[in-house]
Formats: sequence, structure tokens, C-alpha cells
Amino acid sequence: MLRWGLAAAIVGVLAVTGVAEQAQAPDPFLDVATRYVKLVLAVGQHDGDYVDAYYGPAALKKEAESTKLSLDEIAARAAALEADASKTALPAWKDDAELWQLRKQYLQRQLSALEARVAMLQGKRFTFDQESQALYDAVAPTHDEGEFSATIKQLESRLPGSGPLIARYEKFKEAFVVPREKLDAVFQAAIRGCRDRTLQHIALPPNESFTVEYVTGKSWSGYNWYQGNFRSLIQVNTDLPVYIDRAVDLACHEGYPGHHVYNALLEQHLVRGRGWVEFSVYPLFSPQSLIAEGTANYGIEVAFPGPARTAFEKTVLFPAAGLDPARAGEYYRVQGLVDQLAYAGNEAARRYLNGQIDRAAAAAWLERYALMSTDRAAQRVRFFDQYRSYVINYNLGKDLVRRFIERQAGAGASDARRWAEFEKLLSSPRLPSGLQ
Ligand SMILES: [Zn+2]
Repeated sequence: MLRWGLAAAIVGVLAVTGVAEQAQAPDPFLDVATRYVKLVLAVGQHDGDYVDAYYGPAALKKEAESTKLSLDEIAARAAALEADASKTALPAWKDDAELWQLRKQYLQRQLSALEARVAMLQGKRFTFDQESQALYDAVAPTHDEGEFSATIKQLESRLPGSGPLIARYEKFKEAFVVPREKLDAVFQAAIRGCRDRTLQHIALPPNESFTVEYVTGKSWSGYNWYQGNFRSLIQVNTDLPVYIDRAVDLACHEGYPGHHVYNALLEQHLVRGRGWVEFSVYPLFSPQSLIAEGTANYGIEVAFPGPARTAFEKTVLFPAAGLDPARAGEYYRVQGLVDQLAYAGNEAARRYLNGQIDRAAAAAWLERYALMSTDRAAQRVRFFDQYRSYVINYNLGKDLVRRFIERQAGAGASDARRWAEFEKLLSSPRLPSGLQ
């Protein structure tokens, strides 16, 4: 089992003999890794959304603030660093050669994404697919309207009545809104459920914890701000009605076994266990985000495989929210169909950001093909404005992670085997292109 601070913490990732050998050897990537952290912090001086988390040495942050490198200077240093990173030889020890190789590839690829983001800040425009390739190491498949029509037809028959489908769907969902005064109780129950399931398979650092806050005026529905020291601040946006499915989605995605666990395991294994300082900073617009969002979304299925979720909703969350548990199955059958429309959001973003449609048309597309209410569609277009091609990290990320874990675990693998592969992925610096 994993325990932080001990050599045994890294069982499953590397052999204990390798730790002893490496503890005495200088880290060949220390210089490159430190310069990388400085550059990420330097970009953060120009882009308020860029540094999602940083818990490394405070002196590096102070240095970034006081020197405030220009974008040109950052670009020049990043190019030089990328060259140095590619020249740095992997260590000779063989115990965990794959992990070192992943580390080197990760540093190089994160750096090239940083260069692309700097170019964007300097005014360079990419197409949607060029941008997602440059920043997230992946390109989402394209879909035309017709590909969503079969699912929409199924929804038409599940939600009978007159008027447009979106209006019928909105009406249907009214019975599943969590009342504002019950929100925290429902979230806390969902968090306990997700955490209990995670703890059965992953030993977390003993002092890990997180705080939940309710906020308004954001383009996202939830956010995990990792603080270091195994702590997270999770914010839930209450601008729009919160439906019952958001409880498990947010508790798993932001918390267990999603972002909170991912960041805590990186800190435990890589930052503290090995002294790999590059993982103490998380640049949002980078390949790391596809892994983060993909594991956070797939983690919901890992924590609640098959019928487990509906059972938990029926017995715990629906009663906590004062909703009728007898309708849980019906609700999740409809939601399952709506989830199949997830890629429609990518299409709206791609067309909008490529300048083929305006924001009104993007919102209309989301209403029609992703079945979003007018308010939610408007919120989503604001998300496109702020985060751009980041949208692919949720759905493509989830699918890439699912395929990777299923391949690693083998067909028909047990839940325990799946959890083991999932934990391994959360604790290692694998790139999106390395999942394929
Ligand atoms: Zn997320």
C-alpha cells in the first residue's frame, strides 16, 4: 500500500532498489526541470489562467513576479530549454526506465505546448485542431449534424409531448434540481461516497483534504484549485440550477478519484518521492490537462461501475436532495443518451473558434445538438471564449483514458485491476499521444 514519505510509497511505480540507487545519484533533469518551472511561472505573469496550481519553492514565484520576462524572452528561453531537454541523457539505471522516459518526453512536450501558448499570447492564431494538437497533444474527431440525429431521435421518444425537444428536456429535468438549501448536504454525501470507493483501492496521503465553496459568475460549473500539501479548494458554480447528477460528477471529477487525487498522487510520488520539481506546477494549457480532465471524467465510471451509480443515487443522494428515488433509473437513462451528445460541444467550439459561425449560432448549435438550455449554452460559449480548444480534454480525454485503461487492464478485467491501472496512470507523466 502507498504511504507517503517512505520508500514503500512508490511500490508499483518503481522498485525499492532503484530508489536507493537514485537517491545517491544526481538528477540529470534537475536543471531542465527547474528552468521549466520558471518559464511556466513567467508565462503566468502574462496569462492569468495559465498557472492552475503551483506549490514549489516560493522563491521561484517571487523571481517570476519581479523579473516579469517579456514574451519574446520567454519564447527564446523555451526554445533553448527544449533543445537542452532533448540533449539530456536518460539515467543508466534500469529499474524504472519507462518512467524516466515518460518524464523526458513529458518535459519536452509540455515545453512545446508552452511555446505554442506564448505564440498565441503574441497574437498567433491557430485553427481549432492545430491549437488542440499544439496545446493538448490530441485532435478531436469531427462529427456532422447527422451523427447526433439517432440519439436525438431516441430522446424524442423518451421525452414525448409537443414543443421543441429542448423545452421538453428542460421540463423533465425540473424534477431533478437539488434545492439550494440541500446542496451542501448532497455534495458532502456524494464526496463521502466517492472518497470511500477510492480509499478501497488507493491509499491516499493521511492528511489529504479539501474544502468546498459555492461561487457565482463563472464560465465553468466546478473547479479544483490544488494548493499543495495534499489539499484542494473545490468551487461549485451555482449560477444555474444544479441537477442531481452534478453531485457525483463533481465529487468524483473534482475530488475522488479525480483532480484532487491526481494532484495529491503527483505530489506524493513525483514531487516529494523523487524531487521532480516540474510536477509542482500545473500549466493549464498543456497536455497535462487532457490527462487531468480525462482521468477525472473516466474516474466517475471507475468509482461507480455499471449499475453502482444508480443504486447509490437511489439510496443516498435522491433522499438527501428530497427527490423521488423511484425516478433515478429513468433520469439516468435520459442522461446516458444526452451524454452521447458530448462531442456536439466540440463541433460548436471548432466552428465558432475557426470563425465559421458567430456566438449566437454557436449557442444555437449547443441548444440543438448538445441539448443545452439557453442559459447553459450562453455559459458554454463564454467558456469557449476563455478556454478555447480546452473543451476536447473532457470528452476526448475521457475516451482516450478509458481505452488506455481497458487495454492495460485487459478485457473483462476486475474492478481491482482497473483501479490499479488507473492509479498507475494518475501517478505517472504519460502524454495524451502515449495513450493511443
Ligand atoms: Zn476538471
